[in-house]
Amino acid sequence: MAILGGGLSGNLLARQLRREAPDASVMIVEQSGDRRWKVGESTVEIAAHYLVAKLGLSTYLYDQHLPKNGLRFFFDTERKDGELTRLSELGTDRPPPTPSFQLDRARFEQDLLQMNIADGVDVRVGAPARDVDLDAHTFTLDGAPVKARWIVDATGRASTIARLKDLRLPVDDHCMASVWGRYEGVRDFDSIQDRPWRSRSRWVARSLSTNHFLYPGYWIWFIPLGRGVTSVGLVGEKDVFRRGIRTKDGFLEFLREHRAVASMIEDVEGLDLEGFTQLSYATKRFFHGAERWALLGDAAAFPDPFYSPGSDFISLECEYVTDLVRRDLAGEDVADRARTYDAFMQFRFEATMLLYRDLYPCFGSYDLMRVKLNFDLGCYYNLWLDPIVKGDHLDEKFLLKELARGPETIAALEHFSALFRRVREHLLKTGAYYERNLGEYNLGVDCLRPWLDEVGTPRKRRQIRARTEEVFNYGRRESLKLLGEDDGKTLRLDQFVEA
Ligand SMILES: Cc1cc2nc3c(=O)[nH]c(=O)nc-3n(C[C@H](O)[C@H](O)[C@H](O)COP(=O)(O)OP(=O)(O)OC[C@H]3O[C@@H](n4cnc5c(N)ncnc54)[C@H](O)[C@@H]3O)c2cc1C
Repeated sequence: MAILGGGLSGNLLARQLRREAPDASVMIVEQSGDRRWKVGESTVEIAAHYLVAKLGLSTYLYDQHLPKNGLRFFFDTERKDGELTRLSELGTDRPPPTPSFQLDRARFEQDLLQMNIADGVDVRVGAPARDVDLDAHTFTLDGAPVKARWIVDATGRASTIARLKDLRLPVDDHCMASVWGRYEGVRDFDSIQDRPWRSRSRWVARSLSTNHFLYPGYWIWFIPLGRGVTSVGLVGEKDVFRRGIRTKDGFLEFLREHRAVASMIEDVEGLDLEGFTQLSYATKRFFHGAERWALLGDAAAFPDPFYSPGSDFISLECEYVTDLVRRDLAGEDVADRARTYDAFMQFRFEATMLLYRDLYPCFGSYDLMRVKLNFDLGCYYNLWLDPIVKGDHLDEKFLLKELARGPETIAALEHFSALFRRVREHLLKTGAYYERNLGEYNLGVDCLRPWLDEVGTPRKRRQIRARTEEVFNYGRRESLKLLGEDDGKTLRLDQFVEA
């Protein structure tokens, strides 16, 4: 097994292979000897479950990184002059029931490389893999040929195999850019001496959340990395990225135009600055069973960083590649299974894009985002996290059923996307878009709270569908209330597809 690229995805796959396919000899080829900070610092529940349950990294993560206190969102006035403690807020008032983490990527990758070496992975650092030939299953390293039964591309945006096989698909209907940096001296959210503000969230550590400041068309993140360093970034529609914003001074100047954000960065020192001009892209294929190659992480596809799905995708991809390799080494023909896994990844990607596409203009309204966040979280736990905790994502029959229902799921998500856009237009027309952006607080678990403990336990398909129906009715009812059209009806699941 050759894994090209020793970043996050390459290292995670190597670790899983050593644990679950011990007969496979695994090589990682990493071109750079320098492990630097990278984005991809915030994990959500699927990735965290993978790190903890599959890779046995729980103690390491609590010891060397930070526990995360969920996603947290702040909303501002139209003039961006709200004081931080006055901003409306969505976010938990207690440590979340499922673990997740804030990662210092440089340290994590370095530590994973060392763990992999100790586990018997052949790690080659300092030279790139070149001349990849997927017919011969070879590449060269320092001029010498290397042959491998499987070649996995984890080279990030260099995307070696995607370029070779012309797999890259542009996502022209979702054009977001980003700029970010690491800073010392960022104000500690939890040092703010405002008793009502601190007590309304039960003194939970806001500093450990991924904190988002939301505006129409863009958002600003604060992620703690430990040891006094905070990652601060901006993601948004391209017209937000005015000239000069990608410089250290220009970025800080932009951030300081938001009073609450400015209050967090009065005394900061920038450590680095990076950016991308186009974030999203898709792939024609993730895995090829007959030809024994696969793409992982950024080498495959990237949807959008809102809700931090990047490492969720990586963990699913690692699960599928490990399973295919294990079966292949046992003599099974994995061509069809790889096609199913590939189709499921494509379905997951499209379902994820529906959370974002054409919806950035909604982000600045507390009223609207309260509904969207609660709805999205309910769907995430019920539809996406639950099967993974139970291991259903590796059950071919389960996946084929999910894929058969795929068009129905996509149609329902499209319905909600259109509904949220309609709410936005209505709020703008009636002057209510910013109406409740100050002084409000919601935990973001309106849909979830009654059945959170069911997630990951044996449930009949019927029960899961009943929860989906509840979440969908919540999204519909709360949206119609904002539109002034609440009809008091409860719909059946199939009616959302027809709607
Ligand atoms: C703005 C932004 C915010 C994000 N926020 C989050 C977040 O909060 N949470 C989250 O989960 N995800 C997030 N992501 C996504 C996350 O950054 C990626 O999913 C993740 O970094 C991808 O890791 P990777 O291992 O695939 O690629 P990389 O980390 O880029 O690793 C690729 C490695 O391959 C090496 N390499 C390249 N070419 C070769 C070669 N020819 N031979 C050998 N080695 C080679 C490189 O040196 C590098 O080490 C974000 C992304 C963006 C753009």
